[in-house]
Amino acid sequence: DDTKPLKVLFLSADTGGGHRASSESLASQFLLQHPNTVYTLYDIWTDDGCYPYNCLVPSYKFMSSRPRIWRFLYHLSNSAPYCAFMNLHSQVTSKRRIRKRIAEYDPDVIVSVHPTMTNVPQKCVIDIKKETGKDIPIFTVVTDLGSGHATWFTRRMEKIFVASSRMSKLARVRGWVSRSKLVECGLPIRKQFGEKKAAMGKRGSEPGKEYQRFMRQGLKIKNTEDPVILVMGGGEGVGSLGEIVEDTVAEMQRTGTNGTVAVVCGRNEQLRSQLSSRDWDASPAKLTPSTSRRTRKRDMIKRVFKRRRLDTASSPVPPTPPPSHVDVIPMAFVSNMDEWMAAASVLVTKAGPGTIAEAAAMGLPVLLTSFLPGQEAGNVDVVLEGGFGDYVSDPVGIARTVVEWVNDENMMTTMAKNAESVGAPDAAKSIVEVVLERALEARKLNGGKSAADFGKKKV
Ligand code: UDP
Repeated sequence: DDTKPLKVLFLSADTGGGHRASSESLASQFLLQHPNTVYTLYDIWTDDGCYPYNCLVPSYKFMSSRPRIWRFLYHLSNSAPYCAFMNLHSQVTSKRRIRKRIAEYDPDVIVSVHPTMTNVPQKCVIDIKKETGKDIPIFTVVTDLGSGHATWFTRRMEKIFVASSRMSKLARVRGWVSRSKLVECGLPIRKQFGEKKAAMGKRGSEPGKEYQRFMRQGLKIKNTEDPVILVMGGGEGVGSLGEIVEDTVAEMQRTGTNGTVAVVCGRNEQLRSQLSSRDWDASPAKLTPSTSRRTRKRDMIKRVFKRRRLDTASSPVPPTPPPSHVDVIPMAFVSNMDEWMAAASVLVTKAGPGTIAEAAAMGLPVLLTSFLPGQEAGNVDVVLEGGFGDYVSDPVGIARTVVEWVNDENMMTTMAKNAESVGAPDAAKSIVEVVLERALEARKLNGGKSAADFGKKKV
């Protein structure tokens, strides 16, 4: 029955902001390509998992701000024996409830955008097919860019969509996934990013600058002429954002650079209120003491070995700078990230895959300040090898680098061009085309079969 809406079930959780952002981008593509679609987002662990799986969201929040604990747990869990144990344990303890919930929703297709939501749901789909005969195609969309946890690569999914050839290789090596199951198409981002970039044209060109002025006016940025430095730390607002802002403002004042520092604090309310209550004119920013020699040495090694050469003539900062004016705009979680990225001259962020993919699609140079060990390490390489940014973790070094960039037009133009060549603004569209075709085909073959009949016969 073609008049019945197509039911799409997304599997995701609010561990960071990236998974939700990716499912939103896919959902809006479904609505564009097949307007008669209804969808829902299901966090299998929070809603139906047993302990410790039902603590996934708070645990992520706790661990993502403690890199040492994260590193230990990530590497421990990223091994075949651990994955096998976890898959078995989660199946035994939670599969029944998850299967019941999926059957109740009775989807036409399932799209998982979370690494921990591939194995159990795929088993549930097999059970439902055995009993009711209903075929529910299930896909994985990997929302990581440069590295990914082994749990992403459950082989029996219909297809696994990955962002790059680097991820394809990882899927084959870590998950023994066959080439025929892998589709390389970029990381799905919300369609507004591509639209804004198309309207903006080439970054640094006259029409591009005019569009930026227009965006800045719309965002109530007072100084629409000078650089806007966008600082963020993923959906949770993690990283030493307070120090980075302080040092950047101090460095701008020291070098006579006018401009705006816009800080997206995400769900980090403490940081937002701390930055809002600060009177930047009454108490000028000071450079904080630099971090250890070890940190600086580590940064340097990464930059020397990984960074693509940028052939640009660097213009020196004027020796005696005139006094500058810097505005600081602290914000909570914003829903118009596309507008902020269009208005920004440069992005300072932790190495979140979604944020990097969005910046690349917008041709926005990126300065990475931190990464989650294991999970986000490969994202740093994507930026360095792509030649559209750098990695510096020391707040004073971050401030110096970013101020040097905004004063060097050649460098900015080269990085913007490199970013555009890495960006994939149409990834969501390509993914949905494939998923939709298979979902409609399955619906036709299923006829009147319903997963909601599950449980009437014993499996
Ligand atoms: N984001 C947003 N508003 C905010 C902060 C973040 O829309 O105030 C979005 C951002 O655009 C990106 C996602 O949240 O799409 C963050 O995803 P990423 O993969 O970079 O990091 P995560 O938070 O998942 O670790």
